[in-house]
Amino acid sequence: MSVIGFIGLGAMGGGMAANLAKAGHEVRAFDLSEEALARAEAAGCVVASSAADSATRAEAVVTMLPAGRHVAEVLEGEVFDAASPGALLIDCSTIDVATARAVAAAAEARGFAMVDAPVSGGIAAANAGTLTFMVGAPPAAFERATPILEGMGRAVIRAGDAGAGQAAKICNNMLLGATMVATCEAFLLAEKLGLDPAVFYDISSKASGQSWSMTSYCPVPGVGPETPADRGYQGGFAAALMLKDLKLALEAAQGANASTPMGAAAGALYQAMANAGDGRRDFSAMIRFLDGKTGA
Ligand code: NAD
Repeated sequence: MSVIGFIGLGAMGGGMAANLAKAGHEVRAFDLSEEALARAEAAGCVVASSAADSATRAEAVVTMLPAGRHVAEVLEGEVFDAASPGALLIDCSTIDVATARAVAAAAEARGFAMVDAPVSGGIAAANAGTLTFMVGAPPAAFERATPILEGMGRAVIRAGDAGAGQAAKICNNMLLGATMVATCEAFLLAEKLGLDPAVFYDISSKASGQSWSMTSYCPVPGVGPETPADRGYQGGFAAALMLKDLKLALEAAQGANASTPMGAAAGALYQAMANAGDGRRDFSAMIRFLDGKTGA
């Protein structure tokens, strides 16, 4: 088993670090929050005194931080100077493609192998060890990272070289955001036209309008499998996180000169939903927002 540094023990990282400890690794965990450190210690991790301390002696260092600037600061400011020569750096945060590529190039220049490995699946999957990892790395680094990622998830897929994991993640989530908005507006229109939502679901889930947003994550309470809609849109994937991912996708689209009008429309709607105070609700609560309902 390996010595693994783990930096960022929040909603996602806490469960991921705990699963690595459960798998028998020595996990040297660090977060700025004392509370997060106490939880990690209770879950079998060794508390480190700084990001640099968590990287010392580690064969691999995992980061699970809010955004690109945190990842760049932690890696370039502390980890590069403290990590063992040739250590493997695995960033599981969702960050912009440009920063992912820049930190990977800087890591390589310092002699480290680096992979971007953002996740699909929320807090429940992080705790259960059932995440999907989309990985950007050269084949040799991917092979080194796979057994570690398998300790935290059930699928590990290489998307291409540095930054490709982030690219796959934001393209997927842009598609998800746009199909969720389209699914919500279709259900609202169907109802206004006098259709029973359950009947519309039965038809559309077997017709060409079918999508994951409809059949696995239906935004209408009581229709389809159990989803956050059945729990008052609590839990699940917060609208604010969908907005974050849409912003990353739109920023990347601008840089790549790609036309993404549907992603932009979804981004504007999730921004308006967040502005109305509903950013913490599940992203399928878009159906309430489009129906003019916000707040409690
Ligand atoms: P979070 O805010 O709960 O956790 C982030 C943690 O990083 C916090 O505990 C914070 O104290 C710590 N931190 C920040 N700066 C630090 C630093 N310099 N050194 C050490 N620790 C530092 O966020 P989260 O929900 O765990 O998300 C983490 C990443 O995973 C984000 O990039 C997010 O977009 C992505 N993600 C989240 C979800 C989800 O459902 N929450 C799903 C998929 C992907």
